[in-house]
Amino acid sequence: MIQVTKNVYVENGMMACNLGMLVTREGVVLIDTPMQPTNAVKWRREAEKKGEIKYLINTEEHPDHWQGSYFFPGVLITSQNTRARLEKTPAAEVMETVKHIDPPGLPLMKDYKVRLADIAVEESLTIYLGNHTVKLFRLPGHSAGGMGVYLPEEKVVFTSDVVFHKKKTWLQEADPGAWLESLKKLNELHINVVVPGHGDVCQKDYFKEQGDIVKKWADAVQKTMKQGLTADQAAAKIVSPDPYPKQEGTPMTETELHKTIVSHLYRYYSG
Ligand SMILES: [Zn+2]
Repeated sequence: MIQVTKNVYVENGMMACNLGMLVTREGVVLIDTPMQPTNAVKWRREAEKKGEIKYLINTEEHPDHWQGSYFFPGVLITSQNTRARLEKTPAAEVMETVKHIDPPGLPLMKDYKVRLADIAVEESLTIYLGNHTVKLFRLPGHSAGGMGVYLPEEKVVFTSDVVFHKKKTWLQEADPGAWLESLKKLNELHINVVVPGHGDVCQKDYFKEQGDIVKKWADAVQKTMKQGLTADQAAAKIVSPDPYPKQEGTPMTETELHKTIVSHLYRYYSG
């Protein structure tokens, strides 16, 4: 765990996304949860040392961000999109994943349930806790349910998976146009610290590079479509415009992820 400002901590050594903690004088706000039950329990204990866990935020609908919510107390907040998707996710699916990624955590899964948001955000929501403000706002592009978390007093933003800092960007459900708009929105915030969904903490100067990676993927796929190639042919032809390696411990091989991105963007641009 690293301390990024006076009251904000980030853990980036637990599978798989970055975890955030805001400590206020009236309690703790947690941002995203570990995938592995054993880590979830550890992270909860760390948080409880700093105060009572008041709010828990899942910034998007992919399992690495919400799977561990069951192990935490506090009011759970997600976007409406995320809540709707989780309603359709069976607990058995999570069980199956845990068998592979955390066998020692299985005994903790006995009564596991997919935790659904107590409060669902349509566009934006502001929480006031202690001397702190927590601003949640829709941040689509990587996924429909993405949500940013801005802490103005700390000058920190949690971007969810709209930013993969120097890790391969996942565009498996991407809406590239919305993604670029979200980066623009982030760039307008008064911030010194950017906590990406994956990769080390960075600064807002990385938004441009992140946007270029998304743009180049979109251009490359549209170009092959104009040439009349099929999605498979395009996947074979396109050289990934992303210079960074896939984060370790995430599903799929580099090749599988490459194909998944191309076939998603093919479907997306074919309407
Ligand atoms: Zn994601």
